[in-house]
Amino acid sequence: MSIPSSFIDQLIDQADIVEVVGRRLQLNKKGSNFWCLCPFHDDSNPSMAVNQDKQFFYCFVCQESGNAIHFLRQYENLDFVDAIETLASSLGLTVPYENSKHDKIKPSGLVEQAVRFYQKNLNDKIAEKAIQYLKNRNITGETAKKFNLGFAEDKWDALSMHLGKDIPVNELEASGLFSHKDNKFYDRFRGRIIFPIRNIKGEFIAMGGRIIDEGEPKYLNSPETAFFNKSNELFGLFEVKEAEKKIASLIVVEGYMDVIGLYQHGIKNAVATLGTAVTPSHVAKIMRYTNKIFFAFDGDLAGGKAAWKAVENTFPIIREDVNIHFVFFEEKHDPDSFINEFGLQAFQKLLDESMSLSEYFLSKVKDFNLETLEGRSQAAKFAIPVISKINNAVIKEIYANEVSKLCGMDVKSMHVPQESYKTNQSSNQSKASPAIPVRVKALINIFSALLKHPSLAQQDVFKNLKEDAKFNFLFDVIDLYQKSPDIKPSRVLETLESEQIQGYFSQAVIAELDLSEENALKLIEDCINVLLKNQKEREQILKDKYNVSSITSVERRDLQQIILKKEEIADDDRDWLKKLSSNQD
Ligand SMILES: [Zn+2]
Repeated sequence: MSIPSSFIDQLIDQADIVEVVGRRLQLNKKGSNFWCLCPFHDDSNPSMAVNQDKQFFYCFVCQESGNAIHFLRQYENLDFVDAIETLASSLGLTVPYENSKHDKIKPSGLVEQAVRFYQKNLNDKIAEKAIQYLKNRNITGETAKKFNLGFAEDKWDALSMHLGKDIPVNELEASGLFSHKDNKFYDRFRGRIIFPIRNIKGEFIAMGGRIIDEGEPKYLNSPETAFFNKSNELFGLFEVKEAEKKIASLIVVEGYMDVIGLYQHGIKNAVATLGTAVTPSHVAKIMRYTNKIFFAFDGDLAGGKAAWKAVENTFPIIREDVNIHFVFFEEKHDPDSFINEFGLQAFQKLLDESMSLSEYFLSKVKDFNLETLEGRSQAAKFAIPVISKINNAVIKEIYANEVSKLCGMDVKSMHVPQESYKTNQSSNQSKASPAIPVRVKALINIFSALLKHPSLAQQDVFKNLKEDAKFNFLFDVIDLYQKSPDIKPSRVLETLESEQIQGYFSQAVIAELDLSEENALKLIEDCINVLLKNQKEREQILKDKYNVSSITSVERRDLQQIILKKEEIADDDRDWLKKLSSNQD
């Protein structure tokens, strides 16, 4: 099912963001904007501007931004369809779902059929061992049903027989449910308990299987497919969201059995990564749904490593209003085995006594021998790169201060990289917003100029950027303005894929530069030069790296691309290309 884009256009046209936000937050008009306390960070002064003309909101501190649909999604934790539903119902409109051409061949449909097939197996006599396994782990039939658990027989063709012969090969392939050998498809999951994985919309997109008898691997997951990206999905998140609209807290664990075991004992807010460490996109996703997070990993070495990985991936997006805690188990225990042995209250106590992110981080620093000069310098060497990952200037300063105390160093001599730290010290008048890199500033200016004078999209000033795929998004925007010069900014935003670029575009919308057409064109030319010069500098940096043999293979390819894209390739360039393509060790 999909929603026609003409309806989304109509909705954006008819909805008034001032009304949407105003119904939920106290707005005050000042100048051309309405202002309110930003709900997306811990705000004490109104930092969020809502602009009626542009149908846009923007927070000057946390930089959350977008149109009415974005606001609803963020504010009420809604997915796109739910946000559309909410907005439509407030306007008294009914969403006209349509069967899209793709629906029939949607590969995830096969996954759902497989889930139902395996689920039915679990009720049959054939799954005796599987049922015994679940009983031994104290999983009731009700819980098994809640998570749609199933059983795959130890056969090579049970599922393919069930699905029949009419399904096109490319669909079988795309589903991730089969392995493929000598032109034949074999069931991927055999002799396993099946744990279906759903996306946030509740669609079945993949599955995990635990082997019943002896055999390897113990756990097997669907491979990545067009609709299953394991570094983005969390097992159990849909089920938590289904039960709790505003999620108070989430417990992140390592395995599906942990999620299910905790659920069985009454802890219904656990989610699991799928055989990967916690990734940055996991953390971002979790922070979208709650601002209280517990990481509860196994009590072994791997669990310790997973916890540290979570720290590293949390630091870049940490905010003041997010509480992150770590629960550590004794060795040989994981969340499931712990709650089975000690019960709900003991688990609850672990949560209550969990270590905060900062305590955990500082405990790692204190692991060095801080009594000695060597130990202190090792500790600083360990801590500084980690702290430099923090983008929130206030939090970064707090961490830097703590570490400087422990290591007996002056904060300034710690050289925590990144501009935001510096800006925060020197300027209190502008709230702690990080300094904007010149490349980004250039991009925002180009957007500003286009917003003010959409006709500039017809000019060929942009052609020098055209060859670099990095700027494809810019040409998408230019294309939109060429086709429909009166397109609303909120509609343009809707087409941008990257959240980062959406942010830059939003900043341009709010900045409302007042420029004559002539000056706007001049601005665009200047900014394109900045972007190109940036590329030149990058070329030099990469060459320097090559010369000291610290170039990575990705950077090597990048450098090749930069040189190849030049209009004229000089002798020197040719030498570089030769160097870069030889000794690829
Ligand atoms: Zn904010």
